[in-house]
Amino acid sequence: MLYKIEKVIIHDSYHKTLFFSCEKCRLAEPGQFVMIWIPTIDEIPMSLSHIGEMQAITVKKVGEATHALYEMKKGDRIGIRGPYGKGFTEKGEKALFVAGGIGIAPLLPLIKKYKGEKHVILAARTKSMLLFENELAKIARLHIATDDGSHGFKGFATDLMKKLIDEREFDIVYTCGPEIMMKKVFDICKENGMDMQASLERYMKCGIGICDSCSINGYRVCKDGPVFDFATISKMPDFGKWKRNEAGKKITI
Ligand SMILES: Cc1cc2nc3c(=O)[nH]c(=O)nc-3n(C[C@H](O)[C@H](O)[C@H](O)COP(=O)(O)OP(=O)(O)OC[C@H]3O[C@@H](n4cnc5c(N)ncnc54)[C@H](O)[C@@H]3O)c2cc1C
Repeated sequence: MLYKIEKVIIHDSYHKTLFFSCEKCRLAEPGQFVMIWIPTIDEIPMSLSHIGEMQAITVKKVGEATHALYEMKKGDRIGIRGPYGKGFTEKGEKALFVAGGIGIAPLLPLIKKYKGEKHVILAARTKSMLLFENELAKIARLHIATDDGSHGFKGFATDLMKKLIDEREFDIVYTCGPEIMMKKVFDICKENGMDMQASLERYMKCGIGICDSCSINGYRVCKDGPVFDFATISKMPDFGKWKRNEAGKKITI
């Protein structure tokens, strides 16, 4: 079905948030995604970054479809299928959220919903690429990391994570971001016996478990995920190492 874009937030020259009203998306779980059809261009998976009165996706420009989506304005129409997949499960009373770049998109509705104590590591290459900083500062204990040190801790999200877990205990870690970062988060959780959930990304076509384009070691990211827990990720030797491109060819991450 086609939906009208009702509001737009321009974060910077790479990131935009597009709001719409879709009754089914209003009932989505944090971590679920929608297939967004950009008329005449392509259909791509996007996490719901806002689930409420209005719903939204937050897009990062990387290729043709995301460039076209970024160019869209209030009043333009997009196709929406879904919401699809398995979202995050709320666990424990003290959570650490580790978000790298656009990875904050699926985590944001979970951070809003999580009832316990919440610490968020918001990481980006540089200060201007940090998303939702003001919104997060109001609802969680926010820890900023930038690769170039232009704001907050200078270094990677995972360096700051090691520091935080030395100081405090957490019941669960939730993460989304570049797979290299999530693999490091997974390894840190393994070393420290911590529970975790991660939202994975693979090249997706159907979004409903038929085509197998997005499978990783037999798990379909669209249907069995995109959110997987520690035990399931432990059974994915390709995680952090291999993915498939649009032609189905296995390439290194
Ligand atoms: C479950 C799920 C949820 C997602 N949620 C979001 C979201 O909330 N916001 C968002 O912006 N994106 C999200 N993505 C990623 C998004 O779907 C892709 O970025 C998009 O399909 C790329 O399409 P394109 O035509 O713009 O780029 P393509 O033409 O497909 O790719 C262009 C180039 O960018 C590279 N590329 C593709 N994807 C990425 C990427 N994610 N990061 C860096 N380089 C990439 C490709 O390897 C290629 O070299 C999600 C993906 C999945 C599977």
